[in-house]
Amino acid sequence: MNYLKIAIMILLVSVVSCNRKENAPAVGTNDTFEFVIDRFADIEIMRYRVDDWDQLSLKQKELVYYLSQAALCGRDIIYDQNCRYNLRVRGTIDNIVGTYSGDRQSEDWQQFMVYAKRFWFSNGMHHHYGNDKFFPDITKEYFGTLLAQSDTASFPYTDGENFKQFAKTITDIIFNPKVAAKRTFQDTGKDLVTNSAVNFYEGVSQKEAEGFYSRLAMADGNDPQRPLSHGLNSKLCKNENGELVEQVYRIGGLYSEAISQIVYWLDKAASVAENDAQKEHILKLIDYYKSGNLQTWDDYNILWVQDTKSLVDYVNGFIEVYTDPMGRKATWEAVVDYKDLKNSRRAEIISQNAQWFEDHSPVDALYKKKVVKGVEAKVITVAHLGGDCYPSTPIGINLPNANWIRKEHGSKSVTMENLMYAYAQARLKNGSSQEFYESKDDLELLEKYGYISDNLQVDLHECLGHGSGQMLHGVSDSLLKNYHSTIEEARADLFSLYYIADPKIVELGLLPNNEAYKACYYKYILNGLMLQLNRINLGDQITEAHMRNRALIARWCFEKGEEDNVIEKVTRDGKTYIKINNYDKLRKLFGRLLGEIQKIKSTGDYEAAKDMVETYGVRIDPVLHKEVKQRYEALNIAPYGGFVNPEFVVTKDGDKIKDISLRYPTNYVQQMLDYDKQFHFIKQK
Ligand code: ZN
Repeated sequence: MNYLKIAIMILLVSVVSCNRKENAPAVGTNDTFEFVIDRFADIEIMRYRVDDWDQLSLKQKELVYYLSQAALCGRDIIYDQNCRYNLRVRGTIDNIVGTYSGDRQSEDWQQFMVYAKRFWFSNGMHHHYGNDKFFPDITKEYFGTLLAQSDTASFPYTDGENFKQFAKTITDIIFNPKVAAKRTFQDTGKDLVTNSAVNFYEGVSQKEAEGFYSRLAMADGNDPQRPLSHGLNSKLCKNENGELVEQVYRIGGLYSEAISQIVYWLDKAASVAENDAQKEHILKLIDYYKSGNLQTWDDYNILWVQDTKSLVDYVNGFIEVYTDPMGRKATWEAVVDYKDLKNSRRAEIISQNAQWFEDHSPVDALYKKKVVKGVEAKVITVAHLGGDCYPSTPIGINLPNANWIRKEHGSKSVTMENLMYAYAQARLKNGSSQEFYESKDDLELLEKYGYISDNLQVDLHECLGHGSGQMLHGVSDSLLKNYHSTIEEARADLFSLYYIADPKIVELGLLPNNEAYKACYYKYILNGLMLQLNRINLGDQITEAHMRNRALIARWCFEKGEEDNVIEKVTRDGKTYIKINNYDKLRKLFGRLLGEIQKIKSTGDYEAAKDMVETYGVRIDPVLHKEVKQRYEALNIAPYGGFVNPEFVVTKDGDKIKDISLRYPTNYVQQMLDYDKQFHFIKQK
């Protein structure tokens, strides 16, 4: 669970100073390379650049290429996991976009295309962040026309279904607000499983699921020190006798068609691996996809985390559990990347000093790690994204997730520099900081130090934050249930926030002076108190774990610092601004809260977690919410961003690959249609 979608907070207020010229990518100049290629609803689509590509050997390029094909082959899986109707809806959209013979200039058609674009962006019919179902802004009658005037033979029919039946069913799936209303349901007190549209459970209640997995955890043969991630790679259903059974994601099991394709490309990747260690973990991953065995998954992760020598690396598997209301079942995702040697130096310095940071953290000695193991940290250039990482992406990753592997074997921590750079470039002049920043001084800090301090905060969050601390004997993550993700992200954020202001950071050369961290502090607090509200619909509460965590931290510090006026809300011309009066004291508050949050995590204190999250991380002041939305609306900025992948151009000499180059597409819809066709393996249900 230690993966980071600090994601797109960056996107809200980033202004990049020009002191990052050393990172200016080699392809074109900032002026000529268009980062933003599409804009619809609350979303902006960008391209990312893959620099230093030609410094890879041909064999390394081949490796990246094969891994990237493997990254695309799981496309169907994420759609089907998000909701069982998604593949049918996607097939319907594709057929309409491909064959509709009516007017494609009309306002209705444009609205239908907005729906299609949003659907692709979310890998399904629920908002990728908010989890609510969204709807096309057209009438059912018009949708009926779209169906009728497309190639009616090519819709995704189920066996024996005729057009009329199909049209009725698909219209209901798309338009009926009661059908699959919420992807991941999180209101404590109601059944989280039956109220979620996510496709991890079928005909199973929360109580049954909890019972099933607690029995599994207690079964004979389990090593309590090294627990398997039960349930990670399966759907929980009932058989014809009403008994609970898992359908495992593997070749010969659930998603077999797509997994076979993934394995086909992984096999090719193994044949051009950079070294034996890399080859070994790719082959182990193949074993896992064949068997679905969770012990093999752990074995694979150990091999993967120990491979720190290879330049090219990847993530490929059922990994993150954010979408499961029970925090147990993983969505499929993939990233292909290679090391950014220049920028990795920063992360290496942090890693080399990991023990110092752990020893000096403001956390009770009981909950600290005596020995921090190999936090391998690097900055990477992303070359391809797939599954749950596409088109909406993380900007940093810290894996593997199993706590015991992290403790005994360490973890890999990466910052996705080229994605962050694209975000920053896209946001250079969006005007949001000018609108929301309280003073010229704050803006100046942002311009000077915003980009470097943001990057550093992500590094600290990833390299140190998630890896820090230890659980008390016998305590497991699952005790915190639906609050686990929020507490875990808060822990990592607080660790990074506490340390980014430490004199040690300047001493290590990670920031230029004792002022630079303030850019990050200001931005964090402003975002947590105000800016992120823009991403939530009026009347809703905060549900997403990272957003809850940021609200929790900012509001807790605001409240606890009130007596000393650490953070102040200022009103000017009817607008709310945030002013930080005392940065030293704010740092101390971060430290204090880190101590509390770590204790909650280490002791598995569900009631304390619930109290902390529900008090500070969920509710929204409706007046402030409205103000933030209105001020943003005037700026017309998309609150969410995502990416298209670059495309490979493979030059062959007979069967032999002579060279592979990259092309940066400019058409989002085309990439979606191409992928839907080329990487469609699972029959629609
Ligand atoms: Zn994180």
